[in-house]
Amino acid sequence: MSVIQDVLAKLQEKDSGQVEFLQAAREVLTSLEPTVSKHPDFVKAKIYERIAVPDRAILFKVPWVDDSGEVQVNRGFRIQFNNAIGPYKGGLRFHPSVNIGIIKFLGFEQIFKNSLTTLPMGGAKGGSDFDPKGKSDGEVMRFCQAFMRELYRHIGPDTDVPAGDIGVGAREIGYLYGYYLKIVNQNASVLTGKGLEYGGSLIRPEATGYGSVYFASEMLGTRKQEIAAKTAAVSGSGNVAQYTVEKLIQLGAKPITLSDSNGTIVDESGITAEKLAYVLDLKNYRRGRISEYAAKFNVPFFANKSPWDVIKEQNLKVDLAFPSSHENEIEAAHAEAMVKNGCFCVSEGANMPTTLDAVDIFLEKNVLYGPGKAANAGGVAVSGLEMSQNAMRLTWSREEVDQRLQGIMKNIHQSCLEASEAYGAKGNYVVGANIAGFLKVAKAMLAYGI
Ligand code: GLU
Repeated sequence: MSVIQDVLAKLQEKDSGQVEFLQAAREVLTSLEPTVSKHPDFVKAKIYERIAVPDRAILFKVPWVDDSGEVQVNRGFRIQFNNAIGPYKGGLRFHPSVNIGIIKFLGFEQIFKNSLTTLPMGGAKGGSDFDPKGKSDGEVMRFCQAFMRELYRHIGPDTDVPAGDIGVGAREIGYLYGYYLKIVNQNASVLTGKGLEYGGSLIRPEATGYGSVYFASEMLGTRKQEIAAKTAAVSGSGNVAQYTVEKLIQLGAKPITLSDSNGTIVDESGITAEKLAYVLDLKNYRRGRISEYAAKFNVPFFANKSPWDVIKEQNLKVDLAFPSSHENEIEAAHAEAMVKNGCFCVSEGANMPTTLDAVDIFLEKNVLYGPGKAANAGGVAVSGLEMSQNAMRLTWSREEVDQRLQGIMKNIHQSCLEASEAYGAKGNYVVGANIAGFLKVAKAMLAYGI
């Protein structure tokens, strides 16, 4: 058995039931196979096995009181996966699906993503099975305070710096940070995605979506194509989807879909800047459902369908796809239908939104496929820039941050291409991203001894 297969078999046994983690581990580790013969030192130091086991997993209870006075108990998680190249870094996800397997998969991915940004950040992830949907502001605040009451002892500007993810946006970061400040009495760079008034960075809210479009633009450039005039399907309607659509509009593309857990809208005339302003107000302030867009602008709404279902069932034609919702939203049958309907470029704003079978279809059909850990690295990259600004106690302009973000996305694209070529899989961004992200972390781990 190869070293990699050996590690995977062990994970399968020890981490059985952690479906998403095992999926991510399989994807990353199998693509690292070409590095094994070139790095006997990694094999000897068991780097392949060590990188797939978190440094530590912190599990805690989060008791809080709801508006009716009833006590609620949620699960809290923080998995500090690897800090070889910088403090642990990665978001917090509040969603009922959250469990140890999901947080481990996200933390594992984060190691390679953060390494690709070239900024000094290790990999971590955390969150809770708390569902902010339908909760009052007061309930969300009390939950965040209860969550931080436990988390504060495990984080710090040089130790572990959480941020947002699904269910954790500006409001939640405000409550979490406010409570940290109260109990620790240090106004420190301990979270990113902070408000501009208290140490946040310009462009951080936009960064993941913008970055995913910049990455797509780099991929298209390898075929002498550009974003302008392309039709794009975007899934989700949260932070990532919103700013993906904004950048697509700015670059002259035509985004035509948005979705949430209730269904998908298809606006074939194109989502414009004005309509997007409505979506931002609807989702961020009124916390409404995307179906309201359909009623307001008189476009079709497909209940309980994702954009990928609609492409499959209605033969909707798109050139570009930006899955920006959640893991495993694109399955093999979707991928087949997308290719059939003209989609030739996929840039993942979400983490692992494509199943392994569907990825194989994209790769076989020569689709430009940008995996999340490369394509959505813009968010954590600007988190890294927020940490730099906090450390220097200054703030950069919007233009400066955006320029750095563009530079970072360009570099990530370049290192993926170079690594894919050096390891015999030219143009395969999955192999390229995994190997490029891995090598830096592996070399640091090696330097530290056992
Ligand atoms: N949750 C985001 C991600 O998946 C951002 C993490 C961060 O900024 O630390 O990369």
